[in-house]
Amino acid sequence: MNCIEHEGKEAVVNCASCGVGLCKECEANTAFRFNNQALCRKCNIEAAHNNEQYLNAFLNKKKLAMGIVIAGIVIGLIVYLLGKIIGSEYGIFWMLICWGIGGSIGVFITKSQQNEKQGEKPKGTLLNRIAALIGAFIGAAIVAPVFIIFSLIGIKKVNKQIAENDAVLARLGVGNNQQGKANGMG
Ligand SMILES: [Zn+2]
Ligand SMILES: [Zn+2]
Repeated sequence: MNCIEHEGKEAVVNCASCGVGLCKECEANTAFRFNNQALCRKCNIEAAHNNEQYLNAFLNKKKLAMGIVIAGIVIGLIVYLLGKIIGSEYGIFWMLICWGIGGSIGVFITKSQQNEKQGEKPKGTLLNRIAALIGAFIGAAIVAPVFIIFSLIGIKKVNKQIAENDAVLARLGVGNNQQGKANGMG
């Protein structure tokens, strides 16, 4: 059997896709391989077209994912600023929720594209996607609880300061009405 591209040259392998004979040179110069096996010119072209489609789809998904994450960040910042304007203390919390949602969708889209490339459709896929979703939310969730914890610590600290201040006022005979009256009488 001779090489399909080079008449007179002996074929050493078959095209991994269509099975035609390929010489040493064609085997070495193949642009794409399937299962580490060389492809003929026709199948290389087909592989290149498929690859181009895949890369364009990948690029579009990456752009979409990036756009959604940016939208999440921008919406989150707007929510935060609105919270500031109306005097809400929870603006930053809702901002992180927006970032978490945007990030989760971004990871989900990216992850689904990766799974398509690997040709993985089986068991793990849904779990992987859920894990990715949870992972992205934890990104925001790690920051949100820290914010809430610091707020709670801050509130507790201020409450303690108020209690200490009340004690000082009580000792001074001010603030506690009963003691104030008693002192006033005495
Ligand atoms: Zn071929
Ligand atoms: Zn050849």
